[in-house]
Amino acid sequence: MTTIPVGSSLAEFVSAVLSSDPEVRELLEREVRRQRSTIQLIASENFTSTAVMAASASVLTNKYAEGYPGRRYYGGNAVADEVEEVARERARALFGAEHANVQPHAGAPANLAAYMALVEPGDTILAMRLDQGGHLTHGSPVSVTGKLYRFVAYGVTPAAADGSGERIDFDQVRQLARTERPKLIVAGATAYSRTIDPGTFREIADEVGASFMFDAAHPAGLIAAGEHPSPVGLADVVTFTTHKTLRGPRGGAILTSAELGKAVDSAIFPGLQGGPLEHTIAAKAVAFAEAARPEFKEYAKTVKANARALAAALSSEGFRIVAGGTDNHLLLVDLRDFDPELTGKTAQEVLDRAGITCNRNQIPDDPRSPFVTSGLRLGTAAETTAGMGEGEMEVIASLIARVLRRREDEAELEAVRSQVRQLCEAFDPYPSGAGALI
Ligand code: PLP
Repeated sequence: MTTIPVGSSLAEFVSAVLSSDPEVRELLEREVRRQRSTIQLIASENFTSTAVMAASASVLTNKYAEGYPGRRYYGGNAVADEVEEVARERARALFGAEHANVQPHAGAPANLAAYMALVEPGDTILAMRLDQGGHLTHGSPVSVTGKLYRFVAYGVTPAAADGSGERIDFDQVRQLARTERPKLIVAGATAYSRTIDPGTFREIADEVGASFMFDAAHPAGLIAAGEHPSPVGLADVVTFTTHKTLRGPRGGAILTSAELGKAVDSAIFPGLQGGPLEHTIAAKAVAFAEAARPEFKEYAKTVKANARALAAALSSEGFRIVAGGTDNHLLLVDLRDFDPELTGKTAQEVLDRAGITCNRNQIPDDPRSPFVTSGLRLGTAAETTAGMGEGEMEVIASLIARVLRRREDEAELEAVRSQVRQLCEAFDPYPSGAGALI
């Protein structure tokens, strides 16, 4: 077994562990190089702190802790109990919630557990349509959620030339709530650039006697920083992921009232999961504390300002921005005005070759399939962590336009790739990580 010198830096620690496995080590080194030398615009990604990474690489990965603090099925849980209590308490404090469950392995099981706590199989749930910005776990037929429950979907208003369209269609939400009488109404999206008003959803849910769940996977960090209206106290259950704008480890969490806490806890364990990942829970605790700091509020403000700057600069380059802009960390770009022949799939691939990482995405009422699409989804959470500001967003917009305009020109792609490398050297997410693996 490899010995790890006490007092090693995280990088030395990870390197030592992996010296016994050159194949995996080489893959991780390649991934470090990719993350540090290309621009990360995937809206659901971020760069965690080395403290978050260290916690998730800790000895807690060895611990089995089925159950909840004070009520475990195995022994030796004193530390695991405290770690999970600390994480729960920090989550409650950060979001002002009565009850927190930090065990969901990711956002998808958090959502399924919320459904299990609030409704019965076969019940009707009203949620956002996938091709209008909703998530697979909001009832897609290919997701277990769509097989277990009867989902009815709302969408967004039609596009308008002045940018006032493509907002959640609350008239439709209200009308469907009245006719379909759902047991649960779900708010939240994976590709929606405007503020989601939890108050209006609550009103509609109350009118028809439905429960209300808010999936805050994307805006969780903005909510924690006071940069998006908080659904806590309005929604019966709030689910979120810890790795997007919140900048923690990959994972999920659930917030709810003291009254619903037991139902949510039982839905996660024993309902859906086995033993919790206590190393990830330790990393969530670290991330919750980081998000409570004043610097995080500034970070969240900059994330939004950067998204606005990127949207404005892309609009000047001839791209249409869905919903006329953004209130949060992401924007959807409709590629058709820029070039009717250009698909999201081609744009994603060619940008990747130039060192700009993003994902294709359907735009509302997209005539193309989810594999091809007419749009791109771009997010600013990661590069804001790396220190970029509005000036860099303008540079990135012009690089994107150059690549997509002259996508057949290899020399142009190479020229952009070299500018991307320079930009990334100036904005390195891990500047003090001297070791090979960070
Ligand atoms: N809900 C929404 C709105 C999401 O955007 C996502 C992920 O992108 C999820 C749930 C699922 O999260 P995970 O990928 O962690 O399961």
